[in-house]
Amino acid sequence: MIELSNPMVQTAVRAVRQAAALMRLIQRETVGSSLTKVDKSPVTVADFASQAIIGRVLSQAFPDIPLVAEEISSALRDPAGENTLAQVTQYACKVIPEATHESVCDWIDLGGAEAGKRFWVLDPIDGTKGFLRGDQYVVALALVEVGLPQIGVLGCPNLRDASTPDMEGSGSVVLAVRGQGAWSTSMAEGDDQWKQLKVSSRSDPSQARLLRSFEAGHTNVSQIDGLADWLGVQVDPVRMDSQAKYAVLAAGGGEVMIRLLSPDRLDYREKIWDQAAGAIILEEAGGRVSDLSGEPLDFSQGRTLKNNRGVLATNGLLHEKVLQGLMAVSA
Ligand code: AMP
Ligand code: MG
Repeated sequence: MIELSNPMVQTAVRAVRQAAALMRLIQRETVGSSLTKVDKSPVTVADFASQAIIGRVLSQAFPDIPLVAEEISSALRDPAGENTLAQVTQYACKVIPEATHESVCDWIDLGGAEAGKRFWVLDPIDGTKGFLRGDQYVVALALVEVGLPQIGVLGCPNLRDASTPDMEGSGSVVLAVRGQGAWSTSMAEGDDQWKQLKVSSRSDPSQARLLRSFEAGHTNVSQIDGLADWLGVQVDPVRMDSQAKYAVLAAGGGEVMIRLLSPDRLDYREKIWDQAAGAIILEEAGGRVSDLSGEPLDFSQGRTLKNNRGVLATNGLLHEKVLQGLMAVSA
């Protein structure tokens, strides 16, 4: 069972729940309206509001644990960001009524800490393109200690039971604690009916459901096609943005997720906030995560996974087979 009385677990879940519920509201209120379709403003407002809320909740509960997060407030403090800051503050007030322009910026900047021995790592909205499309995105928070995620929480507003896209439902919170399994419940405040997640038991590569990015620019599409051919895959892939893919893998809704390097960005190294929470959730559900050479992800190298190229995440049973396939198709 999972030890839900642990204050770090409780706080992490509460912070993600509050931010993810607000993200859902912002997505519903703003995305898709003709006013905002052409620009990125809804996701900008949402990103900042999410980071401000989580920064504030974590720092109040654990002032000594640094936060490493994606955003900084400089664009909001600039006079050109005045309108955006007003919107961010207005939304933040729905969760933290005393939020002001100044405090919101300060809470966001709590995320500028160094990735040291022990830290929180946050992606306030992972899958910004999915958010804008009215599709999947997550709020992703992890606690990393000595290079390993120890707690991971994903707030998934548009997933039911951590595995099924559902834009109208109450969303999922997914939680893992090292050694205590991976669990999910609904995003509804106070719902503590946690169900344990287990990866799929499919070991036949022809039946492997590949979880693929929506965005072609984040991977190497033709090499993934080549790998699917090499594996003899006969089932449809699942296309999805963000670490929602890790939740789906953990819940048994797919078998393989691969992040190959985009041919345009061979120097790209994964950001730690794009992997930390998802990785522990998958491992605790019985799956396996490595880089494209089969090496473990090393979260001790600052804000990126400097020592790793790409990511392979599977139900475990198919991991070695896919590594072999990757060698064959990239040779
Ligand atoms: P996904 O939704 O799985 O495509 O992943 C979204 C994440 O991809 C974003 O949070 C970005 O941080 C990350 N990203 C941005 N550019 C790249 C790139 N060239 N290669 C891999 N990932 C990227
Ligand atoms: Mg991200």
